Amino acid sequence: MNHKNLYACAGIVFAGIAWFSLTASVTADEAPLYGFSAESSRAERQWEEKLRAVPSPDNMRADMQHLSARPHHVGSPYDKENAEWLLAKFREFGFDAQIESYDVLFPTPKERQVELLECQGESTPDCAVKFTAKLEEPALAGDPTSGQKSEQLPTYNAFSRDGDVTAPLVYVNYGIPEDYERLERLGVSVKGAIAIARYGHSWRGIKPKVAAEHGAVGCLIYSDPEGDGYYRGETFPEGAYRPKEGVQRGSVADDPIFPGDPLTPGVAAKKDAKRLKVEQSPVITKIPVLPISYGDAQPLLAALGGAVVPAEWRGNLPLTYHVGPSTRKVHLKLKFDWDLKPIYDVIAKIPGSTYPDQWVIRGNHHDAWVNGAEDPISGLVAELEEARAFGELLKTGWKPKRTIIYCAWDAEEPGLIGSTEWVEDHGEALMKHAVAYINSDTNGRGYFGAEGSHTLEKFINDVARDIRDPETKYSVWKRAQLATIASANGSEERQEARSRTDLRIGALGSGSDYGSFIQHDGIASLNLGYGGEDGGGIYHSIYDDFYWYTHFSDTTFVYGRALAQTSSTAVMRLADADLLPFDFTDFADTMQSYVKELKNLLQQKQDEIRERDRELEEDVFTATNDPKRPTVAPKFEQVPPFINFAPLENAVADLAKASDAYKKAYDQAAASGQIGKAGDSSQELNLLLIQSERQLTNSEGLPGRPWFKHEIYAPGQYTGYEAKTIPGVREALELKRWKEAEEQVPVAAKTLQQETQLIIDATAKLSALH
Ligand SMILES: [Zn+2]
Repeated sequence: MNHKNLYACAGIVFAGIAWFSLTASVTADEAPLYGFSAESSRAERQWEEKLRAVPSPDNMRADMQHLSARPHHVGSPYDKENAEWLLAKFREFGFDAQIESYDVLFPTPKERQVELLECQGESTPDCAVKFTAKLEEPALAGDPTSGQKSEQLPTYNAFSRDGDVTAPLVYVNYGIPEDYERLERLGVSVKGAIAIARYGHSWRGIKPKVAAEHGAVGCLIYSDPEGDGYYRGETFPEGAYRPKEGVQRGSVADDPIFPGDPLTPGVAAKKDAKRLKVEQSPVITKIPVLPISYGDAQPLLAALGGAVVPAEWRGNLPLTYHVGPSTRKVHLKLKFDWDLKPIYDVIAKIPGSTYPDQWVIRGNHHDAWVNGAEDPISGLVAELEEARAFGELLKTGWKPKRTIIYCAWDAEEPGLIGSTEWVEDHGEALMKHAVAYINSDTNGRGYFGAEGSHTLEKFINDVARDIRDPETKYSVWKRAQLATIASANGSEERQEARSRTDLRIGALGSGSDYGSFIQHDGIASLNLGYGGEDGGGIYHSIYDDFYWYTHFSDTTFVYGRALAQTSSTAVMRLADADLLPFDFTDFADTMQSYVKELKNLLQQKQDEIRERDRELEEDVFTATNDPKRPTVAPKFEQVPPFINFAPLENAVADLAKASDAYKKAYDQAAASGQIGKAGDSSQELNLLLIQSERQLTNSEGLPGRPWFKHEIYAPGQYTGYEAKTIPGVREALELKRWKEAEEQVPVAAKTLQQETQLIIDATAKLSALH
């Protein structure tokens, strides 16, 4: 899956702002690493340097060519072959490796049909067909793997239900809730219609979900050239962007309810697991849905009547975009094979020499929609070179203090299934032993990006300061900071980017395999990658292959090497630290900003509704309504009540105080040479720190979706990829559930109080060291 910003950059970039100074990076070289004694820091730096020298771009190129040589989706022969090949590699590197297998629901298409019918008005059974969608991606001369038709999955959305519907078409822009508010104003309803939405601005599964909520009977999602086609650049194979017949496959399961196997929520999908019936699974779509190319979409869009769409709804096809409905009907027929398929997670371990019961986990998925050179092999080959680098160091006598676990996940694409089933399988042990999880997925050329737990923000900033950008003279941290200054929104953001010690990292929503680790089990997680100078439009199509990647992305694999260096440094540092490098000051700062955002959000809602009600009273809508092109006035709404945010404000104030005290205690312990000296009592402290992310979870889970336990980060129910922070409160405000928002304030506050108590306990232990 992996979220992909179609406009500027691949995946993740630093969420805002940040940075800081030359002096700090100079002294950072001399000062001991955070969490290390002076002596262990010196040794660590030497090992890290050896580690970073190993990853080879040539190996990554060769591994990518091998792993993406044939289509390797869930259930395909090459998916299993790749898993076995990876297993052999990990063993060759000296890891203790095995495959863990599960049986999961993975539908594949048996029948797909989209037709525009000739007759108008009421359909007759034998109405002639005006246009039949091709639903095919042609092989391209010069791109050798694009012709592997017999092994390619057809273009489809996994976890669409079966269906056979004939109905008029309505254009719904991106198909997100605000688009339907606009449609209502235009006097157009999708009730009984097939909605056609363009890709972008939300995770794809949101589009059929919202369409169904508004009464649509079917949904088509197409890739407009404005998103990732010729509007952005030359199309493949001349350029990197989506050709006319290119289609974005992808899952549309309602993962914001729960990810993983749709039939076994909360438990591992083992042979004998208790399974829901397919019809019972709440995550399968309510209406049939199919992705199509802009080649197939164009005749359908041209058939739309009704009003011309608002300016910001227009794509880049050579036609006038109308809202609809169409007078001609569209026939959409879909039938799937609803079999269970075996999946193969490759799990490889290096046992810790000193603290084998503390686990540092690293993962990237290996399954793809088709050949998947970019998604996911570009990230996987980096991970593989990291594993080889650790293998080389093992031969020279290095041993990690903590256990290192490298994972290559299967079935990420249909809904983070491989990682979720594994996390559900090993939940109890993971919650006891897991220190952190480090994820990567698609990787490309450009800037370093990180998202994740803010208790690891300082840690990952420190790592990024030690990695060199392969194409410029800067560290990847410095380059990310300067890019943040360049793209800052206004002087305040710029100022923060210049003066804040650490670059801010974004919160984790959904879109790759960190989901279950952080949101179900409360394991501190990071998602790392490079991108932003590697645009393209082959995402989830047959053209995401070795030819495309080696012509248009990180063609020399130097950013693959940078990713391997970054992630392996992070893994080694977490595995070897005397004191686990969690820090709470950046975390507290971020929580304060989230609480401020919540207060602003309520005020903004109040202001908006108050203003609109006033305009209704003033007859603004009646007076400005063009009688020849009438629109529907919005409805009066009650202005939202004030909400008491004091419990949260008090909680973040206490958190900030406790975090500062922890930092002071750490600085004192470091100054007096106590870090790493105290043996057992520092291990007690480490065990406490391991639990710090767990404190942010609530066993009851979020309102309406108990699988999601984290009270601070969750994927949005109506955005999918994008994180909602303090989601219990924020989503209630967004959905105008004022009472629920008020009730969720003390729940979130209690979570932060738990964290504060843990930090106070950790500070006491830290102070006792000296
Ligand atoms: Zn991916």
